[in-house]
Order: sequence, then C-alpha cells, then structure tokens
Amino acid sequence: MGVIKDILRTMDYGPSPESTEHVGVWLEEHKSGFGHFINGAFTKPGDLFDVFNPARGERIARVSQGSAKDIDAAVAAARKAQPKWAALSGFERSKHIYALARHVQKRERFLSVLETIDNGKPIRESRDIDIPLVARHFYHHAGWASLIESELPGTKPVGVCGQIIPWNFPLLMLAWKIAPALAAGNTIVLKPAEFTPLTALAFAAICVETGLPPGVVNIVTGDGATGAALVAHAGVDKIAFTGSTEVGRAIRKATAGTGKKLSLELGGKSPFIVFEDADLDSAVEGVVDAIWFNQGQVCCAGSRLLVAEGAADALYAKLRARMANLTIGDPLDKSTDVGAIVAPVQLERIRRLMRQGEEEGLEFFRANDSLPDRGCFYPPTLVTGVDPASVLAREEIFGPVLVATTFRTPDEAVALANNTRYGLAASVWTENVNRALEVAARIKAGVVWINSTNMFDAAAGFGGYRESGFGREGGREGLSEYRIADEPKGKPNSSRPLRLNASPGVGPARNVVDEGPDRTAKLYVGGKQARPDSGYSYAVLDPAGREVGLAGLGNRKDIRNAVEAAAKASSWGAATAHNRAQVLYYVAENLAARADEFTRRLSAMTGASARAAKAEVDASIRRAFVYAGYADKFDGAVHATRSRFVTLAMNEPWGVMGILCPDEAPLLAFVSLVMPAIAMGNCVVAVPSASYPLSATDFYSVLDTSDVPAGVVNIVTGEANVLAKTLAEHDGVDAVWYVGDIEGAAQVEALSAGNLKATWTSAATTDWAKAEGREFLRRATQVKNIWTPYGE
Ligand code: NDP
Repeated sequence: MGVIKDILRTMDYGPSPESTEHVGVWLEEHKSGFGHFINGAFTKPGDLFDVFNPARGERIARVSQGSAKDIDAAVAAARKAQPKWAALSGFERSKHIYALARHVQKRERFLSVLETIDNGKPIRESRDIDIPLVARHFYHHAGWASLIESELPGTKPVGVCGQIIPWNFPLLMLAWKIAPALAAGNTIVLKPAEFTPLTALAFAAICVETGLPPGVVNIVTGDGATGAALVAHAGVDKIAFTGSTEVGRAIRKATAGTGKKLSLELGGKSPFIVFEDADLDSAVEGVVDAIWFNQGQVCCAGSRLLVAEGAADALYAKLRARMANLTIGDPLDKSTDVGAIVAPVQLERIRRLMRQGEEEGLEFFRANDSLPDRGCFYPPTLVTGVDPASVLAREEIFGPVLVATTFRTPDEAVALANNTRYGLAASVWTENVNRALEVAARIKAGVVWINSTNMFDAAAGFGGYRESGFGREGGREGLSEYRIADEPKGKPNSSRPLRLNASPGVGPARNVVDEGPDRTAKLYVGGKQARPDSGYSYAVLDPAGREVGLAGLGNRKDIRNAVEAAAKASSWGAATAHNRAQVLYYVAENLAARADEFTRRLSAMTGASARAAKAEVDASIRRAFVYAGYADKFDGAVHATRSRFVTLAMNEPWGVMGILCPDEAPLLAFVSLVMPAIAMGNCVVAVPSASYPLSATDFYSVLDTSDVPAGVVNIVTGEANVLAKTLAEHDGVDAVWYVGDIEGAAQVEALSAGNLKATWTSAATTDWAKAEGREFLRRATQVKNIWTPYGE
C-alpha cells in the first residue's frame, strides 16, 4: 500500500512507450525515399533530403525536394481535376470527404505515432488532440460539402489552392487547409514543412485508398524555395499559409497584384491574464496547456503571463511546484508531458533568445534540468519580472518559455495585453463573468478563451488580428475563404489620369487662396472642412472638358491627419448598433432631402442624363437605407463546439479603414463602400472618385446634418493612387478597400504588407446597382471567437 501511495504522490511511473512497429515497417518500405504525390500517384523519388526524429537525432526518412517543375506538374493536375471536382454534387463531394475522415480515424494510432516520431510532440498529444481533431475537421467539412450551395448562395469555388503549412501541427494544419478547400469545390497543391512532411505523405496514401479522384489533392514536399515556387505559380488562384509573420509578409508582397486570394495565419505573442479572483489552481493547469503544450511551439501559445500583482506570488509558487511535476523526455512514452523541440535550429533559436534575456538580467526558473542526453530538448521555463519592452515579452519564442509580468488594474491588464504587434489569441482567468466578457471584448485578438486555453474545434473560426494575419480557418467563417462571388468579371478599369490644371508640373500651379471667392471644395477631416496641406487644387472637368468646380489636391499629410481623426473617433465602434442605424437612416433621409441638388451635380460633372443621374441618386438613397437596416442585423453566431462551452463569434469592426472609390458611379460607389464600413462601426478615410469628386464633397453637409460624429467619415480628394499609397503604408490603418486600376490594386496589396492590414481590391468594372449585401459587411468586420465555459 505504501508503495502505491508513493507512486501517486510522485507520479513516478515506469516507462510506457508506444509501439512503433507499424510505422517502422512503413518507413522501411520507403527507405529509398518518398516521391511527391501528384495526380493521384507518387512520383519517383528525386533529389532527396533527410527527415529526422528530433527526440533521437536519427534520420527516419528521405523525402524529395520539390522543384519548380514538380510544382508545375502538381498545379497542372489540380487545374485539370478542378472542374470535375466542382461539378460533382455536394453529396458526392461529401462522401469523399467523409471517407477521408473515416480512414484517418481508422489509422489514428499509426498517424499519431508517425507524427510523434517526426515532430517530437508527446504521443499523448498527437493521440488525444491532434489526430482526433484531424478526423473532426474532415467530418465537419464533409457536412459543409453538401450544404455549401444552399448556405453560401451566389458563390463558387476559387479554383486551385496552394497551401503551405508549418511543422508544429503537421497533420492538423493539413486538415485545416484541405478539408474546407475540398468542401468548397477546390483542388489543392499542398506543401508540408520541410521538418515534418511524413504525415502528409501518409495522408496522400489515404487519398489513394479512399478513391479521391486524381489531381484533387497533390502534395509536393520541399523547403521554403518549393513554397515560394507555389506562391509564384500563375496557375494558382489562392494561397493559404500558416507560418511565421516574416514569411507571411513576403507572401503578401509576392501575391500583390496577381489577383490571388490570400489568407494568412501567422505568429502570436498571446497574453494569459490572471486576475486576483481567479481560481489559481485551474489557472496553473491552464498555463500548462497554454505554454507547455507542444513544447510551446504553438502560434496561439499563452506565452505572456499577465498576473494581478496581488496574486503573483501565490501563482508563481504554484507554478513552480507544478513545473517540478512535468515529465520531460521520450515523446513516445505515454506519461511524457513535454517532448522534443522540432529541430536543432529551433532549439538554438530558443537558446539565443534566452541568452538575450539573461543579458537583460531577467529571473529564470527551470524546475527540471535533467534532460535526455540526446535529441532536441529544452526545459519548461518561467521568467518573471519581465519588462514589456524586453525582447522576451515582444518576440515569439516558440518554445516552452513563459514570461511573466504583473499588473495593477484591469485597464492596465488590457493595455499590456494589447501591447503587441500580434493579435492571435488571449486567455482570461477570473471568476467574475462581467469582467471576463468586458476584457474579452477589449482585447484585440481573433480568439479569446475565458477560464480555458488552446480550445479548438472545426466549427469555430480561428485566425488573427493585426500582424497575426487575416482570414479565418474553421466553420462557416473559414469556408468563405475558399469561395468567390459567382458573377461575370467586369472589364479592367482603365487608369484615368487626373486632369489636373493646378497641380505642380501640370500646367501653371494655381493657388486657390489667391483666387478671389473660393470655389474650391475642401477636404473633410475630423468633422470639419480643411484646406489641403499642399494649398493646391485641381479642376474637375465635365466630359466636354469644361470646368465644373475645383477640388482640393490632398497629399500624404492630409491622409495622416484624416487617419488621426478617424482613430480618435473609435468610440463609434462601441456605439450600439441601434445608434449607428439611426445615424445612417438620418444620412439617407438628408440625402433624399437634397436629391435634386445631387442629381444636378452628377449630371454636370459626368455628363449623365438627368434621368440617369436621378437613378444614381435614388439608388444611393436606397443603399444608405439598406445599410442603416443592416447596422443592427449583421449578427455574430454561437458556434456548436465543445460541450459545456458557449463559443461566441462576434463581428467586430477593423477600426480605421481606408476606402478608395472608383470613377464609375461616383456617388453610388462612394455610398456603397462607405455606408457598410461605418454601419459595422469602422471609421473611414475615403478618397472619392478622383475625376468626379464633387458628389462626395457635397456629402459633407449631409454628414454634418445627420449627427455623424466627427472623424467617423473623413474625405480626402486628390490622385487616388498617390493617396492610396499613404493609406496602404500607414500603420494606423487596419484595412483598405481599393477600387481602381490594376497598378493601384497591386500597390495597395504590396504596401499593406507593412502591418499586414487586410485589403479588398478590385481593378474591374462593377455593376454598382447590384453591389450590396452581406459580403460588404463581412469584409468590413473581423470575427472574434470568445470561448466561455459554463458549469461548476
Ligand atoms: P516559416 O514561416 O519559415 O515556415 C512555414 C512554412 O512556409 C513552411 O512550410 C516553410 O517551408 C514555408 N516557407 C518558408 N519560406 C517560404 C517562402 N519564402 N515562400 C513560401 N513558403 C515558405 O516558419 P519556420 O518553420 O521557419 O519557423 C520560424 C518561426 O516562425 C518559428 O520560430 C515561429 O516563431 C514561427 N512559426 C509560426 C507558426 C504559426 O503557426 N504561426 C508555425 C511555424 C513557425 P520550410 O518548412 O521548408 O521552411
């Protein structure tokens, strides 16, 4: 009896290794090397690179290095297969995806062991978390395949998707990418990470086994160069990427102007906030799951512990005691808590960051320094007293290292939590439900877990704010990343140079200030009319070349002022949806009251017939009414995820949006773009049609008389692509919508890489009479999923 009691106290069990027999046989069968999986078959192994078991430092396989030619062959196969795959009924696609789920489930043990050998993660995690979630993803999306036509009407598949995944959850990331893409009718070329390609190759074998049509899923192994070739391939319609922010940024630039759809799931430095009234024992278990799960190699790891000053000593003491009970070692042992780091280079990165922390004089605690004598291991580490400016508080360490800081008030906790360029996830611990929900609402992150952490489910969206990327994976939110509007493409918008007669370098500069009565429409910034910083204006000409007015020639300083004014008006986003609806109705009403004036202006400016101009004004009034109506109806959702959890999907505004309007339908396009953005709580800096800006400048008085708070709508006239440059580069702008020419669209996408702002661009003509609806609202928001547990 004494012995059992001792065992329970020390939890010191004997070794319990998982068998590797079946995986060993499979690896032996492929010892001469793995080829790629293209068009339903494995290619002959080509140039090979070694794949290691990081826990033992031993080579376990050799895998082909994908060349541009291999990518070409895979894209061609995917292209050929796509129309047939998309033409299958939803039911047929559903059966294929269901078969993948069933076969993954049948091979759970094999896949778990292979994942653990390849990645170094504890078998407990691959067996109980990764692989079951893989199956769950395929099951969930098997359902979507048969529902998609009715649930996402007016959309069609994107086409061929290039998908690039990291090494931290190799098969799970594959499932997050492949399952929704297949359900939505796309075909795929996927590149797994160089360190961990094996479960993707095993999955390829499952695709053969289940009879998935050739070419629907293609897998090309290789390194970053293989990924870059996939990104650059002209035959790819969408790139979905998970990995580092640095590579995400490079991919944003590489895809700029190509028309490729893009979703990025990038890094994080997620806060784990513990208030004084939290259940500290639960919080300690939460920390274990937040930062020592998968050795901390988790994009949403709760790597920054923010703890209320009064609870800090007690929490640290409990944490240190708990750390002493973590078992580090052979990942195949079922009692191992902390396995191996994926590769020596990653281990060295962690060590380098720790050395930097040591140089800063930070306090380190490691309970267990006795590591296996071979393989890549790093002990769980707690670093306390970390200044928010420290490199350890800012950089994604991607290792089992928790950095802790204290706070005094909830406001300070929120400020510290948001003091990062990332915004992937957060975890909030308190027994006070009001505080939990308030903090969850104020944190800028795509996922917030209350009294819990690292919860995932196929039915809930996952993805980041800010430099953690854009787009969601999972559930309905993720599915729309793999569909596009089913409508004929417009003709390319021609670039229409501004007919300036007062701009430096184009005719004599005419300073309007010197010109007697001032007919120049000014800019509209912070609720006031403002002269352009340049002091210059340009002539607005009708189609016959006659001057119908002058507009201010805005420059980058004006854009910066407007962004500042928009940021100051952020309380608009916190106003009730009902309040916003009232204001928008008022805008519509005031526009209607001045319909004749707007009609005359449009006619004079664009040469449109009185009838056509009236039709545009009427459509603009109707559109403003539509978005007033939508303001309190674009609800979020409650996702059906885990039992005893309410998972709230909240549609939140981006914050500050830049909106560049086209020359077509100068009033209607302006209203169609600005109204949904502000209906959702954004503050905007709008650049109206450069050629026909006067309907927008007439709009100032509509805004003034409609109780639109100062700074919610700012309008800067001038050369669209010059002003777009400043908006796309500006770190204070969270999203940019651009409608214009192809060069301008490419410029916006490339420059948005700075702070990874979301962009929505179009360089084609649009039927503005129809440009309305939920897609505009979806694009005006980002979804935050808040996981709230219930029950004692
Ligand atoms: P990367 O971002 O380099 O790798 C992610 C994937 O992108 C891999 O498949 C990689 O190939 C591929 N890739 C690399 N360069 C390019 C390129 N130029 N174009 C297209 N694809 C490319 O992450 P790392 O593996 O290098 O990890 C570095 C750091 O990134 C980590 O320490 C961590 O901070 C962060 N990270 C974040 C992840 C997340 O989930 N958010 C996941 C992984 C890492 P290859 O495997 O051959 O390099």
